[in-house]
Amino acid sequence: MKYHLWTIGCQMNEADSRHLAARLRQAGYTACDDARDADLVILNTCVVRQQAEDRAWARLRELEAWKKRRPGLRIALMGCLVGTRSGPAARLRGQLAFVDYFLPPSDLSPLIGTLLPDEAEARSADERDRIGRDAVRDDRTASAAATGGAVTANVPVVLGCSHACTYCIIPYRRGGEHSRPAAEVLAEVRALAGAGVREVMLLGQIVDRYGLDLPGGPDLADLLRSVARVDGILRVRFLTSHPNHLTDRILDAVAAEPRICPQIEVPAQAGNDGVLARMKRGYTVDGYRRLIDRIRSRLPEAAIHSDFIVGFPGETEAQFLDTLRLMEEVRFDKTHLARYSERPETFAARRYPDDVPPEEKERRLQVLENAQRAILTDTNRRFLGTTAEVLVEDRDTKRDRWRGRTPLNRLVFFPDPRPLLGRVVPVRITWTGPFSLLGEPAG
Ligand code: SF4
Repeated sequence: MKYHLWTIGCQMNEADSRHLAARLRQAGYTACDDARDADLVILNTCVVRQQAEDRAWARLRELEAWKKRRPGLRIALMGCLVGTRSGPAARLRGQLAFVDYFLPPSDLSPLIGTLLPDEAEARSADERDRIGRDAVRDDRTASAAATGGAVTANVPVVLGCSHACTYCIIPYRRGGEHSRPAAEVLAEVRALAGAGVREVMLLGQIVDRYGLDLPGGPDLADLLRSVARVDGILRVRFLTSHPNHLTDRILDAVAAEPRICPQIEVPAQAGNDGVLARMKRGYTVDGYRRLIDRIRSRLPEAAIHSDFIVGFPGETEAQFLDTLRLMEEVRFDKTHLARYSERPETFAARRYPDDVPPEEKERRLQVLENAQRAILTDTNRRFLGTTAEVLVEDRDTKRDRWRGRTPLNRLVFFPDPRPLLGRVVPVRITWTGPFSLLGEPAG
């Protein structure tokens, strides 16, 4: 049996797809790149912006036509288009009668249940789901082994989000936050390390809140230290932090444990208090500045990444320029920039007209992108002539060179005939650009 897995969206989706792919392989399925050759097509969807949702609907329409010609084709829909709430999911089932399986985000049981062929047939849907859930829990560890030779892996630790940023659809689709038990996370990381993974990224919408819902903890600082001590793991990263929840304990764990990379992903979203208030982010620009000072006092070398949304309803030119000013002041090591996209069900969609014209959103986005490129062109110059410890992740076959990253998440390319996949090697930096560095072996 052949399967085709189409994945868009965030690292959470990537982790869910990695897990499902591993389970399908264990169940005897083989992957195929061309969906037309597949017996089972799975769409892992994202709805964080309208564009992503439109792509999912376009694939669904295509599959509906295919199914008419090939009634035996099985189709599974997963991710945030399905969501965790029964109401919208029931509506979706009504709209998409040609889809066979609906998998809420990070819950693969509706499909995994059917992959246990003998049992699946004989049991009811609920029993299949229960078997699936049990299988899922045990599976995350088992399937970790089938990483396809990857050197890095994403590991969800907090699922869902209980915050209520007014523009964000995630709480409506992934539900409230809940932490995975530490033992389960560590078992998965050990299995990943056993399969050759050398770096893990711990994931959560607000990863700093890990363990707050688990009686007696551990918290994220504890979990980071434990993961960093797993044999075979050379590097640990984590995202996404929130300005109100990134504690000194977490920063101290990063400072104390060399395997935890000094990379802090903490979205500001805007540089103006009025916009932040309407976003219900829960902090002010000055509060955010104090956080940056706190990070830099404990981790002077840290790479700080942030997210910004331009064109939020009501954003004036002056408020936008405040955002630009904050970016130029902090000089982030990486930014994820996006135009505001009105999402259904959100507070902003219900209360604020989407009044910044699309061409103006585009202009503001360009301004920030150009500013970030100039900042990185300048800040990356400091790496020229230095030697960086690069974890080799992949081979760039087109240019016959290795690709890897430094602890500060700089992308580095360098030529070397040796088999270096999964190793940390010293590389002398010979060229710097805004988004990558070039180098040569230094040892
Ligand atoms: S913190 Fe805000 S932006 Fe992030 S997932 Fe939660 S609601 Fe969405």
